Amino acid sequence: MTTRRDELAANLAAVRARIERACQAAGRDPAGMTLVAVTKTFPPEDVRLLAGLGVTDIGENRDQEARPKHDACADLPLRWHFVGQLQTNKCRSVASYADVVHSVDRMALVDALAHAADTRGRAVTALVQVSLDDEPGRGGVAPDAAVALADAIEAGPLRLGGVMAVAPLGGDPEPAFARLAEVAAAIRARHPQATMVSAGMSSDLEAAIGHGATHVRIGTALLGHRASPVG
Ligand SMILES: *Cc1c(COP(=O)(O)O)cnc(C)c1O
Repeated sequence: MTTRRDELAANLAAVRARIERACQAAGRDPAGMTLVAVTKTFPPEDVRLLAGLGVTDIGENRDQEARPKHDACADLPLRWHFVGQLQTNKCRSVASYADVVHSVDRMALVDALAHAADTRGRAVTALVQVSLDDEPGRGGVAPDAAVALADAIEAGPLRLGGVMAVAPLGGDPEPAFARLAEVAAAIRARHPQATMVSAGMSSDLEAAIGHGATHVRIGTALLGHRASPVG
């Protein structure tokens, strides 16, 4: 009988193999890549199994779901990444458990998150989410406004990690990730420590790695199809 652990182990091996091949093709060292397992809609038991299989980074996109899941797994040595769109009134909660927030896309969010991290005395790394299409609903700051947002994050007490993006729905991810790489370089020119590039999901991780991703966010290819679409 195949257990859930067997299933996750096989999926993880397949994803790691894809990452390794993509790194080889790009002439990059796989040791420099971080796999963020996006566990939204899946139970804390899956997080526990993934941790047992060597996964160190967990991604979630809704505070209501992430917070209890984090609390149920607080004994595990994991880094928690918040990757979903964020409202300012959720910043206090998110800053209590997230180590990295990937979706910082406006000044009000920088202020609210900085205040929350400061109040809680937590070191929170923030990524500038960059919009790579013209759909305002999906989050992200316009590429030409990204540097100003990075400067605001870096003013503290948040740590500026780098950039994040989601490729346009149904479009070619190559030009989108190339654009993201340009924005990442512009930010690094001012803030050399901001080396994180969060890009690539189950369907496009190869393209993202080809354009310099350091963090891939993988849900479906690891955990299987989600029961309900939650973004
Ligand atoms: C759900 C989600 C992912 C993972 O997507 P898959 O296609 O299932 O790998 C990555 N990034 C964000 C922001 C997400 O919401």
